[in-house]
Amino acid sequence: MRRAVEAHGSGTLPSRGATAERRIHYLSVSTVPSITIDALLDRYDAILFDAYGVLVHASGALPGAAELLGRLNGEGRSYFIVTNDASKLPATAAARFQRFGLPLDAGRILTSGMLLAPHFAAHGLRGRRCAVLGPTDSARYVAEAGGEVVSPAEAFEVLVIGDESGFPFLDWADAALSSLFRSIDAGRPVHLVVPNPDLIYPGGGGFGFAAGTIANMFEGALALRYPHRTDLRFVRLGKPNTPIFEDALRRVGTSRVVMVGDQLETDIKGARAAGLDAVWIETGVTSTIPEDTPAHLGPTWRMAGLIEAGQESLQ
Ligand SMILES: [Mg+2]
Repeated sequence: MRRAVEAHGSGTLPSRGATAERRIHYLSVSTVPSITIDALLDRYDAILFDAYGVLVHASGALPGAAELLGRLNGEGRSYFIVTNDASKLPATAAARFQRFGLPLDAGRILTSGMLLAPHFAAHGLRGRRCAVLGPTDSARYVAEAGGEVVSPAEAFEVLVIGDESGFPFLDWADAALSSLFRSIDAGRPVHLVVPNPDLIYPGGGGFGFAAGTIANMFEGALALRYPHRTDLRFVRLGKPNTPIFEDALRRVGTSRVVMVGDQLETDIKGARAAGLDAVWIETGVTSTIPEDTPAHLGPTWRMAGLIEAGQESLQ
């Protein structure tokens, strides 16, 4: 009881005694209730889906994804894809999802690459020389944000890690590292940004490293060469940071929104921090929820997959 008094910072006992004590409640994964797609549609007016590990993996659609999106389209439901993938413009991503058999329009896809434009505007980066590690669409995001895209071997003021693939990785990474060191040695300011902070992604039958790991690699190299420069860090734009969730909320125009994602650190914690409920779907990266997860950042619901147990034979 004494701890409860101290926790409230006053000399009076809380009215409901020790149960009113302020403390962090930790999640017990066994107490997270399961939910079905039908129940989600009853309870929420709009659904936000992560892409990888929820609807698709690197080489195809996940079971039930095409049927679910077809149903949502048919019922005129409000939904968006909220993805950290910054390697494809929405139109490119939509075309790829359509090849996987998913009936998905570009207008429903929100990517972390789309966060570059407001980031460039807010930080005065328009017109700056930008090296971009990533495929053509990553460079397009930077150009649309107002950056002047240059080769990673040239002098640049901004380094954008758009993706881990779609370019000669080691050649460009080494060139960017060398150019970065030259700029820093010369006392020139550099701005480092990675739209996609994800470390890994689920492939077809395995996993791969994602752009966030490449940012960590650069930060490791920078820390080794400039141990006192704690400012040489990447700005990480996408989930779990709130701007992409805020953008989605503006578009759906309702607060009865739920996020469906496979990663605790990005989808679940990010959605909960933005004030949304969240479904942890067990078909992707996060295989278990650690017991030290604060309950207010843990999943509201869990779902084994888009197809409920026993329904596989119906697909
Ligand atoms: Mg995912």
